Formats: sequence, structure tokens, C-alpha cells
Amino acid sequence: MESNEKQITVTSPLLPDIDEFNTLLKEIWDSKWITNNGSFHKQLEKELAAYLKVPYISLFTNGTLPLITALQALHITGEVITTPYSFVATTHSLWWNGIMPVFVDVDPSNCGIDPNKIEAAITPKTTAIMPVHCYGKPSDTKAIQEIADKYGLKVIYDAAHAFGVEVDGKSILNAGDMSTLSFHATKVYNTIEGGAMVMKDEQTKKRIDYLKNFGFANETTVVAPGINSKMDEVRAAYGLLNLKQVDAAIEARQKVAQAYRETLKDVEGISYFDDMPGVRHNYSYFPIFIDAEKFGKTRDKLYFEMKEANVLGRRYFYPLISEFSTYRGLPSATRENLPEAYKLADTVLCLPMHHDLTSEDIERTLKFFKK
Ligand SMILES: *Cc1c(COP(=O)(O)O)cnc(C)c1O
Repeated sequence: MESNEKQITVTSPLLPDIDEFNTLLKEIWDSKWITNNGSFHKQLEKELAAYLKVPYISLFTNGTLPLITALQALHITGEVITTPYSFVATTHSLWWNGIMPVFVDVDPSNCGIDPNKIEAAITPKTTAIMPVHCYGKPSDTKAIQEIADKYGLKVIYDAAHAFGVEVDGKSILNAGDMSTLSFHATKVYNTIEGGAMVMKDEQTKKRIDYLKNFGFANETTVVAPGINSKMDEVRAAYGLLNLKQVDAAIEARQKVAQAYRETLKDVEGISYFDDMPGVRHNYSYFPIFIDAEKFGKTRDKLYFEMKEANVLGRRYFYPLISEFSTYRGLPSATRENLPEAYKLADTVLCLPMHHDLTSEDIERTLKFFKK
């Protein structure tokens, strides 16, 4: 039987005020400049760099193309070490560059790649590491950089979940050679579709700006086989409005997390993440991990019971990327090589988490954990 109660979704897009958006649209219409580094695009890059505390940022049309472009820009080839516990786009970006993904197991304390297992996966063909700040939890950037420096590897972070995350007042996005963001509708901060790349110096920013515009350095010079992955003026304007309200949205998410933890701390067989000292979290997801024996119910049983009551969790990240048909034949894609990732994938459930959840929504979700 389908529930006729209101559907509670796992996420909900942060939307700008429509009248304010209309005002900006009118400006765009009047200017007749609708894409190609227009004034809203420039302004959003400036405001995002300041908000995120990063030196340089380049806007993209989604969060997958900056991954693909970062690999192009750094001429990454051969093998790249990455995590199977992420959204498929992480590994797809390697495949699109003809690079062999090498999956390394994760550390369950932050769901990111386990630095202690990286060295064993390095071969003479390894050229880079692509970690993910999973759920916005900071990866062990120091340990990863030490390995990269020792072996002469580049580090590209898929930071799609890590908008605004800071460690000791510093942006996590400054780690490694480059970091990429997604501004997809489902993320903490969105431009409907959109994304960005963060880099450390002006020269790299310039090169990336060429690459996202077919490689054009000027009217008559193409410096590389670039792609078209520019953000347009309409979405840049939308993004400027959302930037003004993203802090309030993150605060609202924090309150949801607090309410969840308050109840779940007493539930046997359920584990979740507490805030880490010195970290500004963005509460992008609220994953819980279910010990079926202690909780008395498997993850899937809980997931489908909630779904029937119109409370939609998501099994992020199940299946693992390494289990999809494209990748499951790779030498590193085995269960033996990835025991912790499999354990997470088999037990995880992300609870509804967004700025718009009401106390009734939270109560309806928590009912599944009360005796
Ligand atoms: C959302 C996401 C992406 C892809 O971003 P798009 O904007 O949807 O292209 C890449 N990696 C991770 C980890 C993501 O969650």
C-alpha cells in the first residue's frame, strides 16, 4: 500500500527568490550578453573565491567536466588511484581520458580513500591520485600529499560534496593540485546544473579558462584541444542569489543533523558521524550505517519500509562504482581488495537532509528508529 502522506525527499533544491531572479534576468536580456564570460559570470567567480577562501576559481557547466578538464590540463595518463565509494562521475572522468582507474579501499572513519593503502597500489604507470571528500568529510589531505610528493604524483580532489568545508579556518579546497565542485540541483549550493574548478595560481586559471572554451586563447589562437564547458549568464545570476542564502541553508541543515543525532545516539545498531573538531561542516548528507543484527533489521528492509511511508532515503553509495558493468572487470575491483568500501555500501542509508525539512518531516523520519 502506498502512503498518501507527503513525500519527504532526500534532498531539495535551494531556490533563489523568483522576483529577485527576474530582476537579474531582465538585466541579462537588456545587455544581450548571455554567455561567454559575461558580467554575472565574472562576479560569481569573484564572490565564490572570496566565500570559499580560495585564490582562483573557474566556473563550469557541471561538476563532471572540471574533473575531465583537470586531468587534461595536467596531462595525466596511465593509472590513477581513486576511491570506489563515490558517485560514478569520479571514475568516469578517468575513463573519458583513457586512464586506468585503480581502486583503493576507504577509511570508514571519513569514507574517503585510506592513505595507508595507497602505496601498495602504486605502479610505474601511476601518475595521480583522485580522492573524494565523501559527504563533505575532509580526506586526510596531509597523508595523501606526503605520498604524492614521495612518488611525484599529482592530486586532483573531487570536492563535489565539500562546498564551504573548512579545517582550522582554511578551505579544504586548497589541498592538492586542483579541486572540483558540483553545483548540481541536489547539492548544498546549486546553480541548477553547474560546477567549478579551484586552482592555486593565475597561470593555471588562465589555461583552464582556455580549455573550457575550446582551447581559445584569443580570437585566432587555439592552444589545446579544449572542450565547451562554460557556465552561462542565467545560471551565474541564479548562483549569485543562492550564494546570499547558502549560509542560512547550511545552518538549517545543521539543525536537522542535531535533531537526528539526538534521537539516534540511543539507538542500538545505528552509527553516524559526529562533527569533527576544528572543521566547518556543510551537512551535505546525513549517512547512517546499520548493523542489522543489533538494529534487528537490514539496511534494505529499513530503506523499503521508509520508502513505503514516503520517506525517501538514498543508498549512497551503493552499488560501489567498482561494481558497475564498465568497471567490475578491473583487477582492483574485487571485494577482497575493497573490504571496507563493501561494508559501507552494504550498510549505508542517507537520511533526508536539506534546508527545507520541517520538524514534522524530521519526526516522521525518526519514527523508524523509535521503539
Ligand atoms: C554530483 C557529483 C559529481 C558530478 O557532478 P555533476 O554536477 O552532476 O556533473 C561528481 N562527483 C561527485 C562525488 C558528486 O557527488
